[in-house]
Amino acid sequence: MTVTGAVSADRMRDANALLERVRQAAPEMRGRLRPAALLGDITWFRVGGPADVLFSPADEADLAYLLARLPEDVPVTTIGLGSNLLVRDGGIAGLVIRLGRGFGQIALEESGRIRVGAAVPDVKLARTAAEAGIAGLSFYRGIPGAVGGALRMNAGAHGTETCDVLVEARAVDRTGRVHRLALADLGYGYRHCSAPGDLIFTEALFQGRTGDPEAIRAEMQEVADYREARQPVKSRTGGSTFKNPPGRSAWRLIDEAGCRGLRIGGAHVSEKHCNFLINEGEATAEDIERLGETVRARVRARSGVRLEWEIKRLGLPLPGRPVGEALALAAHEGGQESAGAAGM
Ligand SMILES: Cc1cc2nc3c(=O)[nH]c(=O)nc-3n(C[C@H](O)[C@H](O)[C@H](O)COP(=O)(O)OP(=O)(O)OC[C@H]3O[C@@H](n4cnc5c(N)ncnc54)[C@H](O)[C@@H]3O)c2cc1C
Repeated sequence: MTVTGAVSADRMRDANALLERVRQAAPEMRGRLRPAALLGDITWFRVGGPADVLFSPADEADLAYLLARLPEDVPVTTIGLGSNLLVRDGGIAGLVIRLGRGFGQIALEESGRIRVGAAVPDVKLARTAAEAGIAGLSFYRGIPGAVGGALRMNAGAHGTETCDVLVEARAVDRTGRVHRLALADLGYGYRHCSAPGDLIFTEALFQGRTGDPEAIRAEMQEVADYREARQPVKSRTGGSTFKNPPGRSAWRLIDEAGCRGLRIGGAHVSEKHCNFLINEGEATAEDIERLGETVRARVRARSGVRLEWEIKRLGLPLPGRPVGEALALAAHEGGQESAGAAGM
């Protein structure tokens, strides 16, 4: 298999065999199954090998039906809009689930509440709330994921996080059982959700407050302008790469370690915001992971701080290739460093 294009005949055969197994196990499934679907076409970084089988369920009942019948040995991975993902070059084994149209509903409820399907883009949630005069959700204007990803990541910006505005969520587990979860069940922390990893979020209920649509729209514009000025939002990126360590800024530690502008293969550390990694066009997932691990190693050497990945790295490397810390280059190896400049 190549990194960007064709899938090998062996991989294609395995993918078709899995697709057949899934079809036989769940003959009344109404969603769409695609063998060997290239995830690099979906992720914001525009890298990543194939999913053995990509499943887009028709709706929550269809998702639950398939999961209840899926053989236990088939691994399941959920993805959203891919704005916080680094999918490795060897792709993801098993079934990858991506919610689509059947999870795109939006309903306004009483007292400033809004119920949305997990495939609704955060930006659309923010806009719908603004039009309805519901304040408190403008921060979603700047987050390029969908609601399911926001629930899993506790996505947040400008001082508000998902857990500040969430009332409850619905999810389906690996056995097909549907759960209704109150906020307290989700165990939220900074970019962290401790709900079981097999839960696939299908819906969320948010609480806003009454506001003036014009004022909310102006606030959303401020959010958009702020990002445009400070972040490489039009690049192939995964957003903030590392979590801010307690009381510290990841970007400042990266800058102090001399990593602003650092290049490895087709990837570099953004000059505009050095907690963002950029695919210049031809990067592999390995280039990006190596760049991230090299930044981590240099920050650790400079400040003693162990940065923790905020971006989720999923899947397999190409055969025989390393992953994780083993990829880091030593300070004297490869990469070119630029002089640090003030900024983020
Ligand atoms: C330019 C840019 C700016 C960004 N700015 C911010 C920001 O300000 N604040 C912030 O918090 N994030 C930011 N991000 C990161 C990202 O947008 C958020 O983490 C977002 O919530 C991810 O949503 P997604 O749909 O893209 O999920 P993905 O990236 O596809 O997945 C992220 C995680 O969520 C899980 N997941 C996705 N959908 C579901 C589901 N339905 N059920 C269960 N698990 C699911 C995946 O398994 C994975 O673990 C930014 C990213 C970019 C590219």
